[in-house]
Amino acid sequence: MVEEHAVGICPGGVETVDLLASLGRVLAEGILADRDFPPFDRATRDGYAVRAADLAEVPARLEVVGAVKAGDWPEPGVCSVGRGQAVEIMTGAPLPAGADAVVMVEHTSAAQDPHPNVAKNTTLGWGTLGSVTLAGKFIEVQRNVRSGENFVRRGAEALAGQVLLDRGRWLDHAGIAIAASVGKSRVQVFRKPRVAVLSTGDEVVEIDAMPGPAQIRNSNSYSLVAQVQNAGGEAVRLAIAPDERGRLRSLIEEGLGCDLLLLAGGVSMGKYDLVEQVLGELQADFYFTGAEIQPGRPVVFGSCDWNTFVYANGQADAGTRARAPAPHKKYFFGLPGNPVSTMVTFELFAKPMIEALAGQTPQRLIFLRARLKSDIRTKTGLKRFLPAVLSGEFENAEVELTRWQGSGDIAALAWANCYVVVPPERERIDSGEWVSLLMR
Ligand code: AMP
Ligand code: MG
Repeated sequence: MVEEHAVGICPGGVETVDLLASLGRVLAEGILADRDFPPFDRATRDGYAVRAADLAEVPARLEVVGAVKAGDWPEPGVCSVGRGQAVEIMTGAPLPAGADAVVMVEHTSAAQDPHPNVAKNTTLGWGTLGSVTLAGKFIEVQRNVRSGENFVRRGAEALAGQVLLDRGRWLDHAGIAIAASVGKSRVQVFRKPRVAVLSTGDEVVEIDAMPGPAQIRNSNSYSLVAQVQNAGGEAVRLAIAPDERGRLRSLIEEGLGCDLLLLAGGVSMGKYDLVEQVLGELQADFYFTGAEIQPGRPVVFGSCDWNTFVYANGQADAGTRARAPAPHKKYFFGLPGNPVSTMVTFELFAKPMIEALAGQTPQRLIFLRARLKSDIRTKTGLKRFLPAVLSGEFENAEVELTRWQGSGDIAALAWANCYVVVPPERERIDSGEWVSLLMR
């Protein structure tokens, strides 16, 4: 269901945007066929519109009595196919009356007029000539066709009024083509959910600062903003929270003003991992704390009943603020801070939530399968997502793990384009076996 998912997740409002601005957005309206598709019996080959029965025996000779190119309308009575006749036709053109098949031009050749001395009073349109007396044009057809061959009947693709794209559909180029084909130059889409991104850690500094000897730059906020945008959300990057209760709490409060809060770091078992404690102070409900996966084991998911802060200027930054009357459930994820863990847990858990908040019909995770190039040895117990390089294609797809130093190894991701998924019970997977991949 679009409006309300299992845990009561609703998309925000609706806006109308130009069709090309709807790429990557979620439809808030159904898109209907405004007429039959195709709107006429449409030739799918260049050739001749014929009566299949005339080609019961081949080769057969037919008189060419007209031509229809794409965009022409063959008026019945002016351009139609009688017994022993054919009308030259181009791909995309309407089938003239009387014809029930198209024979491909490749299966025809020019033929002699069998009765050259009889004048042909064709009444059919040859371009703009209209009704004229023509020297007969004949073709010989080498192959027969079935009735219905090489054209698509009016309405066979969709009937007028039929829903082509459902509300809740994420728009890609194909969806845009469909909307264009029914004349929707503006479409109604759901507003993007606002997703706050909050990195934590005393050691983390902004990317334009020079890190001290024990400091690292904040890459997580940036990967998360990029992932949020890819998932159809509007990211709000907050300041880095130190491992200190008061400041962390006020940044969490700020983040809860958005539709979803993503925290990175501070959810493990360390002495300074304060995220869960501070969320506990805010009376958070935790739906899960930890997942049997690696990387990403400490991931947490929950919600706070939160009186949404409405800022005087409508922005999620400092300003005069007043509490809105109704309490609001606000969801959060606490993602582990190791960069690869952050990315994988986003993909597995936060992305579907953003899609739901964006009004999108729930999607399945997209994964591929490929043949393993070299053996994998791991420990059992956790489902593992190991950075890997996918190469080859289709039935020759192959995958190999990248060398990496664990989930903090961001450099390994420069080479990897996917993760090999190792089931929790597998201690070894031998080369040559087909494995599942989570695409990055
Ligand atoms: P934590 O989950 O806070 O225990 O952090 C796990 C590891 O991820 C530590 O090595 C952190 O330094 C690193 N880390 C935490 N936050 C970030 C960040 N924003 N960007 C890059 N690395 C981080
Ligand atoms: Mg930390």
